[in-house]
Amino acid sequence: MQYERELRQSQAFLTEHDDFLVVAHVQPDGDAVSSTLAVGWLLSCLGKKYVMVNEGPIPKRMGYLWQADQIRDLSAEPLNRKFDNVICVDCADFKRVGMTKELFAEGAKLLNIDHHPTNDGYGTVNLIVPYAAATAEILFDLIQFMGLELNEAIATALYTGLLTDTGGFRYSNTSPKVMATASKLLEYGVEGPGLSELLLEQMTLPQLRLLTRALNGLQLTEDGKISWVVVTDEDLKFAGAVHEDMEGIVNYPRNIQGVEVGLLFKVIDEQAVKVSMRSAGKVDVAKVAQSFGGGGHVRAAGARVEGTLEAIVPRVVEQVRLQL
Ligand code: AMP
Ligand code: MN
Ligand code: MN
Repeated sequence: MQYERELRQSQAFLTEHDDFLVVAHVQPDGDAVSSTLAVGWLLSCLGKKYVMVNEGPIPKRMGYLWQADQIRDLSAEPLNRKFDNVICVDCADFKRVGMTKELFAEGAKLLNIDHHPTNDGYGTVNLIVPYAAATAEILFDLIQFMGLELNEAIATALYTGLLTDTGGFRYSNTSPKVMATASKLLEYGVEGPGLSELLLEQMTLPQLRLLTRALNGLQLTEDGKISWVVVTDEDLKFAGAVHEDMEGIVNYPRNIQGVEVGLLFKVIDEQAVKVSMRSAGKVDVAKVAQSFGGGGHVRAAGARVEGTLEAIVPRVVEQVRLQL
């Protein structure tokens, strides 16, 4: 079986090397942070040296995670060294590691652990499971495969990844295996409802202000099948919000009855826009995202597109329309 072979190769990668760099994608979500920490824990169980790094800060909301404060923020503090052994988690392609690639030594060996169907297998060793709901689900399997005993702290991290990438066990990626895994994690004492409250229910006031402002500008195509909202730097300033407060806004246009694709355009600067795409099921948004140099899943995908908002919005909407 391919999965077993990839698990075996990943185990060998971890046991045969030492002094690792562990990275996840830029603007990390619950799965990216949790998977980084789970790999860190795994390495500590093996007695290995490792450093966890992200291009930017991790969301404040995730500060409860075991060793969350050990993930170094490269934008705040440079790290003047390079690593020969790198583990990338939840990164659909190499670009997604962002600035942390500066820390990769030339010819560095890479272990690529991910669940995006668009992953192009950029690792020296690849552990890619496109049907997994989250990278955390794959790490659960790897930990079991290696015969390590979980504890509550790391079970909480894995549960966090599952919870956030399935939207609270609601999206179509919520397979029987996801529920079985979540059930096992709860046995370790994970506080499921508390995590749902913290990560999915609670909003900060700036987050709510930002949402209200964004929804004011909601657009809909004439046939009612594509809907989008835009968030600019001025919107963030107005609301007193930060980047992570944009999480979840894209669901609102998508949730309108009759809408097939919901989009969120986040203006990064004058030259680039981040597009988040969500599909009701008919349109493969990973395909649309890929045509703009991004990637993701059938129902949730994203891309960073170079250009101004005025130029990008009609281009993306048109590309979605062609898929309808
Ligand atoms: P987001 O819209 O940022 O919540 O991302 C939705 C899904 O698309 C996630 O699974 C992301 O990992 C993936 N994704 C987002 N942006 C990109 C990108 N620039 N390249 C590849 N995959 C992406
Ligand atoms: Mn992610
Ligand atoms: Mn993920």
